[in-house]
Amino acid sequence: MKTIGLIGGMSFESSAVYYRLINEAVRDRLGGIASAEILMHSLNFAEIVALQKADRWDEAAERLSASARMLERGGAGCVLICTNTMHLVADAVSSAISAPLLNIVDVTADAIRMTGLRRPLLLATRYTMEHGFYTERMRTFGLDPMVPEKSDRGAVHAVIFDELCAGQVKDASRDRYLAIIDKARAAGADCVILGCTEICLLLDPYDLPLPGFDSTRLHCQAAVELAMKADLRQPEFT
Ligand code: GLU
Repeated sequence: MKTIGLIGGMSFESSAVYYRLINEAVRDRLGGIASAEILMHSLNFAEIVALQKADRWDEAAERLSASARMLERGGAGCVLICTNTMHLVADAVSSAISAPLLNIVDVTADAIRMTGLRRPLLLATRYTMEHGFYTERMRTFGLDPMVPEKSDRGAVHAVIFDELCAGQVKDASRDRYLAIIDKARAAGADCVILGCTEICLLLDPYDLPLPGFDSTRLHCQAAVELAMKADLRQPEFT
């Protein structure tokens, strides 16, 4: 089993979920008290959020690339960015290391495609819903994602940063999300992406009016599959 490298802290609430889900998946596969080999570099989220707000994505890419290099030097055989939003800089981070970077968008899109569904509602931060890096990449998988209308996007975004990332889970926010899902269903959505790694703290993907795809859980499952393959390293041509 290879060591799974996690770039975490964005927020630490979801990184804790990653830690638990990856370990549980390994225990389920190997039995007994087996657990995963994990290396995490947990960033100060306040600094990353400041870069997001200032639109300084290049600097954010540098921070995450440094983190990825550190994990690789420490022995990580694959690396995960434990947030959907920061996949905005995933290509830069991926090119900073030789270990594979497991992309959360690909993993989630693949899971949806396998079910035959194709019109997911994306619930995520405003960056993820509006910058296009997520929805455009999903289209390459044959999916036709939709996002909530503007005021609903604002509400979804605010719940993530003001509540979930701060450790608060509120019934009123769950109701608001469910109302947004209902509206999307009426407009043609056939499933829902929990496209922010904290949304699973608020919504159970198996208890929604539409089939739910939890990006956090899917990312963790894919990491375990990758880590337990015989050899992750790309062949070296010398
Ligand atoms: N964890 C969230 C996500 O999956 C938001 C935090 C962030 O801005 O990175 O997008």
